[in-house]
Amino acid sequence: MTARPVRILLLGGTTEAIALAADLSGDPRLEVTSSLAGRTAGHRQPPGRVRLGGFGGPEGLAAWLRREGTDLLIDATHPFAATIARNAALAGAATGLPRVKIVRPGWQAAPGDRWHRVPTLAAAASLLAGRAGTVFLTVGRQELAAFAGVAGPSFLVRMIEPPAEPLPLAGCRVILGRGPFSVAEEADLLEREAVELLVTKDSGGDATFPKLIAARRAGIPVIMVDRPAMPEGETVASVAEARRWVEAKLAAPSA
Ligand code: NAP
Repeated sequence: MTARPVRILLLGGTTEAIALAADLSGDPRLEVTSSLAGRTAGHRQPPGRVRLGGFGGPEGLAAWLRREGTDLLIDATHPFAATIARNAALAGAATGLPRVKIVRPGWQAAPGDRWHRVPTLAAAASLLAGRAGTVFLTVGRQELAAFAGVAGPSFLVRMIEPPAEPLPLAGCRVILGRGPFSVAEEADLLEREAVELLVTKDSGGDATFPKLIAARRAGIPVIMVDRPAMPEGETVASVAEARRWVEAKLAAPSA
């Protein structure tokens, strides 16, 4: 083990990243820096040291890791954040740093669910053309553009704050609300807004699952967008496993 604390870069933007930062930041053997893309205001900040903004691609990330004397790289970004995951893999390989990705398990359909899985948002959009009725899009603001050319449905979008700029999906109806939402709240929304179809990404986790339970109970079909491919490399499924990965590295002679 090195004499100074072991330096960890924790790529974040998820609840797992916040939980892991909270867990690791009290450990005197470690020096943890959480990194956020910095595009979403008002989200929870992880405890401890935080840096904001992109690194400038895989080369920029590798340069940052070298400059800061980083020892371990933990990718705790969202399963749909494919670019930063790829950059982390490339930068990990370029610097030779041990790297692990937290991959929370995807959702599995249960009896009563009417899910239709599609590989991409574009595939989801193509299924909606010419369809009438209200479609609730819970895909994230950045992904709305995929539905811009789709004529037919009335789109419903939920946001934390009113959009500062026009959304890339003209004519969609915006409702405001800050999650997490309970099953009862989601059921109420689906009924109140006469939602006929839900489109969502297979983000996994508990926080945004209640809408899927509400859709199941109401018999509402769901278009479920599969995850993008992830780079090769070591993965763990939970914060606790990530913690054990860190402990194993601390115990290893080369850490
Ligand atoms: P992305 O498409 O994979 O990344 C785009 C660029 O944003 C990256 O190339 C990188 O810029 C920068 N970036 C992304 N995550 C970063 C981080 N943690 N720290 C520093 N720079 C970061 O990412 P995204 O899908 O836009 O997601 C952005 C952030 O939101 C991620 O941290 C992710 O965990 C979180 N998030 C995403 C989703 C989703 O559905 N995509 C949902 C919830 C939370 P450079 O190339 O300049 O380094």
